[in-house]
Amino acid sequence: MLTSFGQRAFVLRLQDLPSPRWKQSATRHGCQILVDQSRALKMWSCRSGRLQKRQCRLTLSSFPSKFAQFSSIPRRGKFLQLEENVKKPAYMARQVNQCDGISIATDLIDFLNASPTAFHAVDEAKRRLRNVGFEQVSEKEDWKLEAGKRYFFTRNHSTIVAFAIGNRYVAGNGFHVIGAHSDSPCLKLKPVSKVTKAGYLEVGVQLYGGGLWHTWFDRDLTVAGRVIVREDKNGTISYSHKLVRIEEPIIRIPTIAIHLDRTVNSEGFKINTQSHLLPVLATLVKAELNKVAVESGRAESGENNDEQISTDDGGKGNLKHHLVLLQIIASKIGCKPDDICDFELQACDTQPSAIGGALKEFIFSGRLDNLCMSFCSLQALIDATSTESELEDESGVRVVALFDHEEVGSESAQGAGSPVMLDALSRITSSFSSDSNLLQRAIQSSFLVSADMAHAIHPNYSDKHEEYHQPKLHGGLVIKHNANQRYATNAVTSFIFREIASKHNLPVQDFVVRNDMGCGSTIGRILASGLGIRTVDVGAPQLSMHSIREMCAVDDVKYAYEHFKAFFQEVGHLHAKILIDDI
Ligand SMILES: [Zn+2]
Repeated sequence: MLTSFGQRAFVLRLQDLPSPRWKQSATRHGCQILVDQSRALKMWSCRSGRLQKRQCRLTLSSFPSKFAQFSSIPRRGKFLQLEENVKKPAYMARQVNQCDGISIATDLIDFLNASPTAFHAVDEAKRRLRNVGFEQVSEKEDWKLEAGKRYFFTRNHSTIVAFAIGNRYVAGNGFHVIGAHSDSPCLKLKPVSKVTKAGYLEVGVQLYGGGLWHTWFDRDLTVAGRVIVREDKNGTISYSHKLVRIEEPIIRIPTIAIHLDRTVNSEGFKINTQSHLLPVLATLVKAELNKVAVESGRAESGENNDEQISTDDGGKGNLKHHLVLLQIIASKIGCKPDDICDFELQACDTQPSAIGGALKEFIFSGRLDNLCMSFCSLQALIDATSTESELEDESGVRVVALFDHEEVGSESAQGAGSPVMLDALSRITSSFSSDSNLLQRAIQSSFLVSADMAHAIHPNYSDKHEEYHQPKLHGGLVIKHNANQRYATNAVTSFIFREIASKHNLPVQDFVVRNDMGCGSTIGRILASGLGIRTVDVGAPQLSMHSIREMCAVDDVKYAYEHFKAFFQEVGHLHAKILIDDI
């Protein structure tokens, strides 16, 4: 296989090479293929770490093979590299690693697999930040911040704000922020989730956000979330907050067979979200047998029967949730079912995220909206502040904020509509000066990227897109525009974001919704209107948004990560050159 190690990755098989001489040379010397200014291919070999031009030259359009379909992708100055059957010179291998789309996509997949809920996403973000030396601060305490250092805080353990203060920062200087969201549409367990119907134990769920609920049928589901647990240490009672995730598929929402719903294909799959969307947990008969087994086990072990939980409504146990569910959660946490005081659990898919497609160019996963942008912004902040020299000339503060509750409008104590962002900017500023006017000055020198996934054009529904604004997979970050301010982008902010792309040779594309369709929105306009901060709305293109299983492209993950990293490194200088309201 061939992949690029320039900014734009694409794939070419060894057998697709245009002549036997190319193949021979590629195999023998470890060749590189350069797309030159005239969009022609030239072969190079690498010996002793130096590139040497070899004999071939061919235009992209003369490729008869599958490679032709990628002819619009490579740009001048980009190399392709053979991965199979080719000796890879160390000099080349190093460059490949620097820009390898697969490695950043694999890291994203690890992030996704670790993050079935917003609580877990924040936990994984914390782990990554701590690993590279970010220091956690608490909103309950006084902050003693220092220039050149990196910090983060969480709110409700479902929103996280991380920031790195430049060495040259003084109070009143601007913030360069990327905001994304940690939540995704899902089914959350009801306060009373215990439902028994037709010999089945079911779990009552409520809808969170605008999910494509039909995609939740016939999936192998489980539960995850957070639990408040009572702990008794030598007679002293305390309550702890624990994350829990059951790995096994313990629940499922079965579809009705076509034999019992003959019109489903002609009239559509219609569901009543109250009555049809309940996951099955167990059958009543097996649950009763399980209860008997548990109780007899307790009796044999001499445990006090008064503490037992019963599945009968007349019993002393938890009347709100099925015992078998509580048992599974309790055993995972290492407590008794009785010690579970309360929880916020949600149904989630058990299928791990994966790289797929015939050419390994896609990512298949739940929660790409918006953990993909959460990951790319977080990783960009980490990598754009990882060495002392990165912050040496920085006079601003680099910030990533991942908010909960975007999918339900952001109006909560920790959503983008809450004071959390203003609190963060205000507390950072006031850590360095008590002058209360400095915050407003700082905000007017600040820049916010609202990063949320975008709609790629769908091959089977291409008329849903505006004819001249059709974001493509592998096309780079999408700048989202809306004259009615559903997105906060304007000419200034889109220009700055595009200019950063151009400087780093990164692709970028535009989106505007059709005039005859409604437009989505995200945290951009909420933060822009709440703070008065200059904002651009962007996102990587994806398909199947809000399905339980979405898809995006490997290359776009790489572009987003590189674009965000470049944003942190460049925006301060660039933004300072744009004079609009200045005197
Ligand atoms: Zn989103």
